[in-house]
Amino acid sequence: MNVILLGPPGAGKGTQAERIVKEYGLVHISTGDMLREAVKNGTELGLKAQEYMTKGALVPDEVVVGIVRDRIAEPDCERGFLLDGFPRTVAQADALDKELASLGKSIDAVINVVVPDEELLNRLTGRRICKSCQRPYHVIFNPPQAEGVCVCGGELYQRADDTIETVRNRLDVYHSQTAPLIDYYNNKGILIDIDGTGSVDAVFEDISEALKARV
Ligand SMILES: [Zn+2]
Repeated sequence: MNVILLGPPGAGKGTQAERIVKEYGLVHISTGDMLREAVKNGTELGLKAQEYMTKGALVPDEVVVGIVRDRIAEPDCERGFLLDGFPRTVAQADALDKELASLGKSIDAVINVVVPDEELLNRLTGRRICKSCQRPYHVIFNPPQAEGVCVCGGELYQRADDTIETVRNRLDVYHSQTAPLIDYYNNKGILIDIDGTGSVDAVFEDISEALKARV
C-alpha cells in the first residue's frame, strides 16, 4: 500500500504518520529527512541538492522528485511507503506519478487531514516553549503549572512562527498550494478526507478504517 499524507500545519500530521507506518509496516518517506540523507551520503542528486541548499535556494522539483524516486526504488519500499511533506504542488504530483509508473507502482490512497483554520489558529498560537529546556506547552491544552514558567523554572516564550499573523500566512500559503493538489487526487478518485478535529486516537481510527477499506 502506497500512501500520501496531506494536512495543514498544526493538524497533527507527524503523530499520525508515525502511527500509520507502524500499523501498516510502511516506509516513512519524509522529504526533509531524505534530502539531508542524500546530501550526507553524497549521492549524485544529493550533491546537486546541496548546491541549492548552501545558496539558501529552493531545491528544484526535478532534483527532489529524483531523490524520492531513488528512495522508492529501494527494496524495503516493496512493502509500501508513506509520503509525508511531498508532493506539495501539482507539478510535483505529476512528476511523481510518471516516476512511479516507470517503477510499476502507483499511489493507492491520499489521506487529507482536514481541520478548520480557526481550530488550527487556536492550536498553533497557543504553543509556548521553555527558553532553557525547550519543553513545549500549550496555553489551553497543556498549560504550565505557573503561568509563563516551565517546571524547570525557565521562562516560556512564543516562537516567531507561532504568532497569529505568521500562522495565518502559513495557512494561506498551505491552502493556495494544496487546493489544486487536493483536486488533482480527488479527480483520480484516491482522495480520502479525514476529520482531524478529534483526539489523536479518534483521528487514527478514522484513517485506519479508510485505509482498510482500500486494501
Ligand atoms: Zn524548561
